[in-house]
Amino acid sequence: MAQRSKIEWTDATWNPVRGCTKISPGCKHCYAEAFAERFRGVLGHPYERGFDLRLVPEKLQEPLKWSKPCLVFVNSMSDLFHPDIPDEYIITVAEIMKLAKWHTFQVLTKRSQRMAALLSSKLRLAADCPHIWWGVSVEDRSYGLPRIEHLRRAQARVRFLSVEPLLEDIGVIDLSGIDWVIVGGESGVGARPLREEWVVSLRDQCETANVPFFFKQWGGVHKSRTGRTLEGQTYDDHPEIATFPVPTKERRLALAATLGTSFITW
Ligand code: SF4
Repeated sequence: MAQRSKIEWTDATWNPVRGCTKISPGCKHCYAEAFAERFRGVLGHPYERGFDLRLVPEKLQEPLKWSKPCLVFVNSMSDLFHPDIPDEYIITVAEIMKLAKWHTFQVLTKRSQRMAALLSSKLRLAADCPHIWWGVSVEDRSYGLPRIEHLRRAQARVRFLSVEPLLEDIGVIDLSGIDWVIVGGESGVGARPLREEWVVSLRDQCETANVPFFFKQWGGVHKSRTGRTLEGQTYDDHPEIATFPVPTKERRLALAATLGTSFITW
């Protein structure tokens, strides 16, 4: 059974890495940090070391165990392209995504330059897979817009933007080569405001460019009250999901064996 997610644009989360460090204004109220730090010092808890970054190799094979196809958000509690994660570990994550092609993987980063560089080199093995979507976070102009350019130059089959938490009007953006746009406001205590005209602008740009648009949430302190309709409509579009047959358990075990990593009990 996959780790179910409450995040509106995915089904499940997979965290072969835990922990991260802040890099830009979008990180200010990082939900992953807030969650992880609640358990710092709780012996035996997955987050007993809080938000300190560490590799979790025992989680690597999870998607191969999951027989039900799902959308999988990779590293919801970290950033796969954090500088402290070795290239070799990222390649192993990519090899597993490539093998588990009955799922659709969503890789989202704020370290867009490293992602683009690896997709053009050591990660070429996964760049052209229709079931692996590569995305960047875009929260503002100064940090977010350069990430879009890094992503556009990356050798990726499916590229997406997570414009969340949207902190200001980011203006007219170049959507060429972009396959999906998610937009959302910040939620929780201290949430920074989201203006409707910023969202409408992005929705209209997506419609003009024929790019699927997903509006995640208005956010705010009580996001369940503010909801996720825009001008009376819910926006749930996403790229086409590639479908591949699910192998038998025996076949999935054989796939896992090809990785040569330590095994967990299925
Ligand atoms: S990059 Fe993502 S996971 Fe890392 S601190 Fe920023 S918001 Fe949190």
